[in-house]
Amino acid sequence: MNVHDIVIEGARENNLKNVNIRIPKRKITIFTGVSGSGKSSLVFDTISAEAQRQLNETFSAFIRNRLPRFSQPDTDLIQNLSTAVVIDQKRLGGNSRSTVGTITDIYAMLRLLFSRIGKPFAGNSHVFSFNDPAGMCPECSGVGQVVQFDVDKLLDRSKSLNEGAILFPAFKVGSWLWNTYAHSGLFDNDKRLADYTPEEWDVLLHGKESKIVYHTKGGAIESDYEGLLPKFTRLYLKRDSSEMSEAKRESIDRFLSYSDCSLCGGSRLNQEALGCRINGYNIAQCAAMEIGELIRMIGAIRDPVAGPMIDGILTRLNHLVSIGLEYLSLDRQTATLSGGESQRIKMVRHLSSSLTDMIYIFDEPSVGLHPRDVHRLNGMLCQLRDKGNTVLVVEHDREVMEIADYIIDVGPHAGTRGGEIVYEGDFAGLLRADTLTGRYLKQSLPLKTSTRAPMDWMTVTSAKLHNLKDVTVDIPVGVLTVVTGVAGSGKSTLINGAFLPSHPESIVIDQSAVGTSIRSNPATYTGMMDEIRRLFAAANKVSASLFSFNSKGACSNCQGLGMIYTDLAFLEPIRTTCEICAGRRFSDEVLKYKLNGKSISDVLAMTVREASEFFSRKELLRQLQTLEDVGLGYVTLGQPLSTLSGGECQRIKLAGELHKEGSLYIMDEPTTGLHMSDISRLMDIMNRLVDGGNTVVVIEHNLDVIKSADWIIDMGPEGGHRGGRIVFEGTPVQLAAAEHSITGAYLRKAET
Ligand code: ADP
Ligand code: ADP
Ligand code: ZN
Ligand code: ZN
Repeated sequence: MNVHDIVIEGARENNLKNVNIRIPKRKITIFTGVSGSGKSSLVFDTISAEAQRQLNETFSAFIRNRLPRFSQPDTDLIQNLSTAVVIDQKRLGGNSRSTVGTITDIYAMLRLLFSRIGKPFAGNSHVFSFNDPAGMCPECSGVGQVVQFDVDKLLDRSKSLNEGAILFPAFKVGSWLWNTYAHSGLFDNDKRLADYTPEEWDVLLHGKESKIVYHTKGGAIESDYEGLLPKFTRLYLKRDSSEMSEAKRESIDRFLSYSDCSLCGGSRLNQEALGCRINGYNIAQCAAMEIGELIRMIGAIRDPVAGPMIDGILTRLNHLVSIGLEYLSLDRQTATLSGGESQRIKMVRHLSSSLTDMIYIFDEPSVGLHPRDVHRLNGMLCQLRDKGNTVLVVEHDREVMEIADYIIDVGPHAGTRGGEIVYEGDFAGLLRADTLTGRYLKQSLPLKTSTRAPMDWMTVTSAKLHNLKDVTVDIPVGVLTVVTGVAGSGKSTLINGAFLPSHPESIVIDQSAVGTSIRSNPATYTGMMDEIRRLFAAANKVSASLFSFNSKGACSNCQGLGMIYTDLAFLEPIRTTCEICAGRRFSDEVLKYKLNGKSISDVLAMTVREASEFFSRKELLRQLQTLEDVGLGYVTLGQPLSTLSGGECQRIKLAGELHKEGSLYIMDEPTTGLHMSDISRLMDIMNRLVDGGNTVVVIEHNLDVIKSADWIIDMGPEGGHRGGRIVFEGTPVQLAAAEHSITGAYLRKAET
């Protein structure tokens, strides 16, 4: 047996067609191919799932019984696996106490440094921890911000209680909570709040009176009166927000205002910790510096005792620089990082690890990176390999493919027309291969010369948010604008932060998750499910509701999902087939009703493409075509939206928004997850939107998209405080000639 390869035989997960493959260990292998061809089925659902399962087998029976049972991936054989770590683009999220510094452990190292050499000596290192009572600011408990209900957002003073002056939904007129005020006998329910006396106002907001008797339909109730603000705070702010649903949290968030804590100025620490300094800087100032600056500050410390500690901090900080994150600061909350940034932060943790012979699996690590920064990512991938690890990367970016030791091209197409290995070998060989990837790699789109003329301009004036340097810029109407620039240069800040608020009617198509219910799927999301249920009902002369996930007809164990999803605290959520319905989603009674020979479960298992051959209804076909157009022909109608990747979420939203006119569309890296051949289809859609009278603004790094724009706004020159300026505005041809633009330089390079 050759122990230098991972050996897989007869892989059949999802669309894989009995795939046999050997993947060299301790090398970089890149998996490419059109979306839906089966890359994830091979890398995540087969390799990573089996590695996870084998790892679980090593646990004691006691622990194993508490973990969900992993079913074996559908393969004949998998050999020579090691422990696998998946580094994906799921956002780090986390509460407000989770920062770049805490999650990379660098803040902990910094605390240690301050406790050793800071002056005056403040104590041990937990004094510098804002998560520890010894260090946290007593006013904000280490959060740095104070959150309050914003009275102006909460109350409409032009209205009376009877007219619905309390805007918070749970307090709508007639509700139980509304009754506790309106029937308290303390207020004139028809008096506009604007006419309240200061005393009445105070009672409404802060009042504390005991033993109020109020009358409801159910009779008189005696209770303590509590003013609106203490009541809101008790009901909604004191609760652990992690227990609330995202929708609930968002609905509460709209009524809140955030401001820096007045005592610690947002630094989260108490005065004792803040008084301790190294070379004039306290720990909060260090955490607020951009990584690049912090490296210079730490590097300038001359202290023989702390030498090794300083080296350790510098090594980690340099890891952040090497993956293009030097514009971040340690105090940046992880919840505000983009998917690409989150992924790169996760990498840093592993770069510092001394484990070897691991399998690292990356999902499109080039997302969010300007071509200029891709070589740094490459350096990092090589570093992981050279430490003796196996690096598996799902990727479409040419520059990343070029460093691969081995490339596996999955295809030839998506879904049932994919699932085969169409090429394996090195990059040079791929260029000669007659596969979609090989063909697209050889061709390069020309710079667009006949650009559309703007119909009008929208101006952003003197924007100063985050790193923007008093930016004034015109965004053209009725054309396709691409916003470019290195990571951290300020693209999202300009578009989402400065421009969007003044254009609230824009259609924003981003990569955040879609669907609030776990039962949402492409059929329910697009509304096709209603029509499909009607067709089943008519064909069988039964009620349409029988085919609903909410009905008695659906399997109650999995609520019509066919799968059980188990969330594990520290691991990826686990998917197991429902034991009651064996994945069929509905009761036997419902399954016996057929439409042209297929049950409702069969229909939900169809891909979009298969469904367009099955149905003949015009409206359904139109919706299916739209999904196909955005490159989602390979997803099944019943695939839970929660299992879609960020790029797929963005495309399904796009499909839902395609039929508007005269609108402003804003997209953030829509090529995420798309193969080069899918990108040309996406370009067609964007062009169709513009030709239909819409304005399209996209943030994008893909050179083919940049070349095809009507107008380009290039930001830079660098990331963070060295960025935030407009470096160039104009057409692709002009950009390629712009000497001072990094993006221009890459366009020229791609042309030759
Ligand atoms: P890629 O990673 O190349 O984009 P995938 O491996 O995700 O492709 O998908 C290959 C095929 O398997 C597609 O037809 C897709 O719809 C199907 N598939 C993937 N995941 C699931 C799932 N969880 N349930 C059902 N079908 C799936
Ligand atoms: P880009 O979209 O070009 O990658 P961003 O607009 O995300 O750049 O970031 C520009 C600058 O603003 C960076 O220095 C970044 O750290 C900072 N920044 C972005 N979002 C936030 C935020 N929510 N809080 C604080 N700083 C931010
Ligand atoms: Zn504070
Ligand atoms: Zn079930």
